[in-house]
Amino acid sequence: MPWTRRAAVGAVAASGLSVALPPASAAAASNRPPAAPRIHDVAVIGAGVFGAWTAWSLKRAGLDVALAEQHAPGHARASSGGESRVIRVSYGADPLYSPMAETSLAAWDQLSARAGLPILHRLGVLWFSPASDAYMRQSLGWLEQRGLAHRRFDRDGLAAAWPQMVFHPGESGFLEETSGALIAGRGVQTVVRDAGLTPVTLAVAPGPPRRVGEAYELAPGLAARTVVYACGPWLPKLFPDVLAGRIVPTRQEVYHFGLAPGDARFSPPNLPVWADFNAGDLVYGFPDLEGQGFKMAFDAHGPVIDPDTQGRQPTPAGVERARAYLASRFPALADAPLIHARVCQYENSSNGDFLIDRLPGHDRVWLVGAGSGHGFKHGPAIGERVTAHILDPGLAIEPRFSLATKAAEQKREIY
Ligand SMILES: Cc1cc2nc3c(=O)[nH]c(=O)nc-3n(C[C@H](O)[C@H](O)[C@H](O)COP(=O)(O)OP(=O)(O)OC[C@H]3O[C@@H](n4cnc5c(N)ncnc54)[C@H](O)[C@@H]3O)c2cc1C
Repeated sequence: MPWTRRAAVGAVAASGLSVALPPASAAAASNRPPAAPRIHDVAVIGAGVFGAWTAWSLKRAGLDVALAEQHAPGHARASSGGESRVIRVSYGADPLYSPMAETSLAAWDQLSARAGLPILHRLGVLWFSPASDAYMRQSLGWLEQRGLAHRRFDRDGLAAAWPQMVFHPGESGFLEETSGALIAGRGVQTVVRDAGLTPVTLAVAPGPPRRVGEAYELAPGLAARTVVYACGPWLPKLFPDVLAGRIVPTRQEVYHFGLAPGDARFSPPNLPVWADFNAGDLVYGFPDLEGQGFKMAFDAHGPVIDPDTQGRQPTPAGVERARAYLASRFPALADAPLIHARVCQYENSSNGDFLIDRLPGHDRVWLVGAGSGHGFKHGPAIGERVTAHILDPGLAIEPRFSLATKAAEQKREIY
């Protein structure tokens, strides 16, 4: 479709994007064809945590960036929506995610300091297991090596520190003292605002973007030399030939239970963020944060879903399972009222590694996603990495983030 003044102005009118078109009268008077709309350096599609931080980082690097989003930044159906996310910096012996989390924690902290309302709450993260397993030992080794504040606990130590929880014989754990919780939806909105960006409201069409000369045209009035698709669980719908079966969205339920007035046992600072890790079976939760109640969820992958059409009401079976867990681990909350629940989705790669690679056949089109249930905290580091690739086309793709390593078989390795 050729560029026309009417189409371009129509597409951007509601978005706040500026397009360098001359006044109609001037063009008519001079009989010159209207100027082409502005071509951005980069268009980022998707204002979830990956897209928002990518756009932020590109802007910081001095590039001209457009951000397009089909709904709103951090909206209720996005994987980045909702109240809170865990940020911890230990990942067993994983050499990739621990440094990324550490970098990101600092960036979230700085953003939080600039924001009107807090984004990072340093509540501490308690990780515990039935026994001191290899994952825990490796996490502790890394925390020690990096000199990051943490405390170890045997079962008696855990029970003494958190008497409102039940710990079983043999359990042990550690507290990452400077990690904690990120505010999710508001956090994403804050990143976009901090970048000085007004997203274009636009559902970009599936498939590779249309090439117009040296640029890609995403819609009338929106063109860029480089395009980043950071579309979370929608990526396999946009690029089914490349990603169907390699990024698999699964249903995940989250429960918030109400506390009795004056009961401070489940509020900060009396309870940190916690993660109960049992050989791949992870249950995690948050103390009452910003009045949202005690939150808990099961990290195991639920049924495969479509992010546009899945029902967003919790299942009775899921609520029952949560109650059974509360009765065994937080007995004072066994009958607490369910005050709020959310149904979200993970967008899982085969083993849990992220995707940061080019769309095959397109040197300047990037696919960024597969957060796999642990991506939120890493938003800043992902934005930094994508920016580095765009600034330096010769920069090698991290093999674990490559498309080539995204298999169709689901075999989770990253927690
Ligand atoms: C219940 C739950 C708990 C989690 N817990 C944690 C945790 O504790 N710690 C942690 O680090 N991570 C956690 N995660 C994972 C983390 O939240 C995700 O990995 C991360 O939010 C993914 O972000 P994203 O930007 O890739 O995707 P999204 O947030 O889904 O963003 C993609 C955006 O792209 C937009 N989009 C899609 N298609 C189009 C189109 N065609 N045109 C325009 N826009 C489009 C969407 O509307 C959406 O806003 C959790 C996730 C869930 C669901």
